[in-house]
Amino acid sequence: MKPFTYTRPDDAGAAVAAVGADPGATFLAGGTNLLDHLKLGVAGPSALVDVARATSTDIVERDDGGLVIGAGALNADVAAHPVVRRDHPVLAQALLDGASGQLRNMATTGGNLLQRTRCAYFADPTTPCTKRDLTQPCSARGGWARYHAILGAGSSTGGASCIATHPSDMAVALVALDATVQVLGPGHEGVGQSTRSVPVAELHRLPGDDPTRDTVLRHGDLITAVELPPSPIARNSAYRKVRDRASYAFALVSVAAALEVRDGVVADVRLALGGVAHKPWRATRAEAALRGAPATDESFRAAARAELVDAEPVETPLGGNAFKLDLVVGAVTDTLRRLGKARPTKETA
Ligand code: SF4
Repeated sequence: MKPFTYTRPDDAGAAVAAVGADPGATFLAGGTNLLDHLKLGVAGPSALVDVARATSTDIVERDDGGLVIGAGALNADVAAHPVVRRDHPVLAQALLDGASGQLRNMATTGGNLLQRTRCAYFADPTTPCTKRDLTQPCSARGGWARYHAILGAGSSTGGASCIATHPSDMAVALVALDATVQVLGPGHEGVGQSTRSVPVAELHRLPGDDPTRDTVLRHGDLITAVELPPSPIARNSAYRKVRDRASYAFALVSVAAALEVRDGVVADVRLALGGVAHKPWRATRAEAALRGAPATDESFRAAARAELVDAEPVETPLGGNAFKLDLVVGAVTDTLRRLGKARPTKETA
């Protein structure tokens, strides 16, 4: 392992200053992903700046019904919080599905958002990987691509390399909930510090021509909090994760949804997908197709298929991921049916 220094500042400003001053430095939160990468040789920072004391662990209900979650709040505490369970059940469910109890007791809200892909080739420095090194080819495109992207990474979007997916379940729920992150970072041209809000839907990026970058954050930017807006529809929300095993597995496909049905018609809907792209995928086409449509399985299936019009699954000698197309349609339909309490019809996908 490459030697590094370790510091633990007492406030966010000092943490941002420490990382901003060293191009090789990185923040350390719960460490559930980063420490593996240090040991594997995937990451080799010159300095670790521990933000355990620098970020809030508070979960605060605002007067307007919104919620502010400190970036240091543990995944276990957010999942168990009574207001989260009552007003944003999709978030509580995504966190419970996201990791074991031991990991939830270490992983933080900010760190969860910034975890890196679980593509097996990315974590294995003996195999070529464009995300680790832009001069290398992508091993997954000719190898094991079962967990990889079907949206936003193909030729139609200018992405010629990485087909990795973002692994966070929590982030998919936050995208469906229109959450924003509060960021403290170095100021313009390194002078001072500044704060800004970034919608979680815009925090992560598609791979494009630089898959080494997972997010729009700049070096030294620290997520300090996540804000959930007041959202009555979120009370009728759910998270559905489809995976190869019941635990210790990342999503093949996941669905975060909130639904409001009036007189048998979809009055409003929020829909996001996980396991399908380099970022949590807000299903805006499906949402548009659903608003005003009958709350039936036929509508739900048609909306899911509309979202997949530009999908580009890959086929490889070790197994592709075209099966995800039907999996998305089935998972979306089943999740919305349960939220709308509609009766199932014969077709299942
Ligand atoms: Fe690397 Fe991305 Fe290809 Fe995986 S899919 S091997 S992370 S370039």
